[in-house]
Amino acid sequence: MKTPQAKARTPRSLVRPHVQELQAYVPGEQPKVKGLVKLNTNENPYAPSPKVLATVQAAVDERLRLYPDPTAEKLRERLARLHGCQPDQVLVGNGSDELLALATRAFVEPAPEGALAHWSKYPSHSGPKLNVRTVQYFTPSYSLYPVLADIHAAAKVAAPLESDFSLPTLLKLRRGKVWNFYAALTFITTPNAPSGRGYPTAELEALCQAMEGVVWLDEAYAEFADDNALSLAFKYPHVIVSRTFSKAYSLCYQRVGYCVGHAELIAALQRIKDSYNVNGLGQVAALASLDDLTYYRANFRRLKQARTALTADLTGLGFTVLPSQTNFILARPPTLSAEVWQGKLREHKILVRWFGAYETRDYLRISLGTDDELAALLKAVRAILKD
Ligand SMILES: *Cc1c(COP(=O)(O)O)cnc(C)c1O
Repeated sequence: MKTPQAKARTPRSLVRPHVQELQAYVPGEQPKVKGLVKLNTNENPYAPSPKVLATVQAAVDERLRLYPDPTAEKLRERLARLHGCQPDQVLVGNGSDELLALATRAFVEPAPEGALAHWSKYPSHSGPKLNVRTVQYFTPSYSLYPVLADIHAAAKVAAPLESDFSLPTLLKLRRGKVWNFYAALTFITTPNAPSGRGYPTAELEALCQAMEGVVWLDEAYAEFADDNALSLAFKYPHVIVSRTFSKAYSLCYQRVGYCVGHAELIAALQRIKDSYNVNGLGQVAALASLDDLTYYRANFRRLKQARTALTADLTGLGFTVLPSQTNFILARPPTLSAEVWQGKLREHKILVRWFGAYETRDYLRISLGTDDELAALLKAVRAILKD
């Protein structure tokens, strides 16, 4: 028998109104067509070390029927030794993206029911107490942060970086009235993406000292930088640093990231994670990577050299290239708009990323490729300039 309510129960009506309205994160294109030079998603152009590949292959056996170690204990011990801390100060995630999501759930209160429509109008600054509902970040930076805040129904504070993508001074942040020193959670991409710019640790430290809530330093590209801010995670109980095996260790496919910080904060994240959040082969691959750091350090050196060479070559062709501390560069092309350049490069089978936001729309973000791939890029650029 049909009840009166059954009629109204459309599939859509079963979804929370908040979720009906959400916009998903837009990842860079993973092309289906073969033969494209892929410089659009900051993957490492070089394969994992032969030892890592052999170790993962050898692990594909009968054990696949078993659950993996729920807390990735061996990997956490190994990372703790590498960074000179205790294993309970380390949490491993299904990519560092998972850890960023856990942070919003652990440290930020969602909007109360019914408040959502007015949410964006809530004042971004409060008195001496923590703004428990606020997620904060600079723009431009990693475009996942606002998506995570929206999923969690948190309030967002997006504070502009300087026009050269450097950090505003504390004085300027105080005067600007946008920055919220009481935000429950502040994400800082360092070195920055998509600009590639590195931030001096002293500047980050001064900013951390001025903050009341959790400061999350997202160091997805730290291995390509001259400096990093890991020490701040050990010095300040409200600072967490995250890293990933995706970019530096060529393991995007495996989804392994980690964060380090005060054991109390790490325990909070641990409490809300999925039981088996990190797949077994990913744990095997990450451990094997740490056993072969010599291979990877050579890889980092090679990519940094490619960065210097590409910067010089593109500058010689009329591009304005920002100084980069990452495995990609942000470059403003000459003669045509960046968006048109992206299309033309695609016609030459070269994929790069263009972000339409106001601060970045004059630039192309180009991931560092192999020497051959970068030669192909430069050849295409010269051909486009000749047309
Ligand atoms: C790539 C990237 C991540 C996510 O890395 P995964 O570990 O693959 O999830 C996080 N933050 C920034 C800034 C990134 O560029």
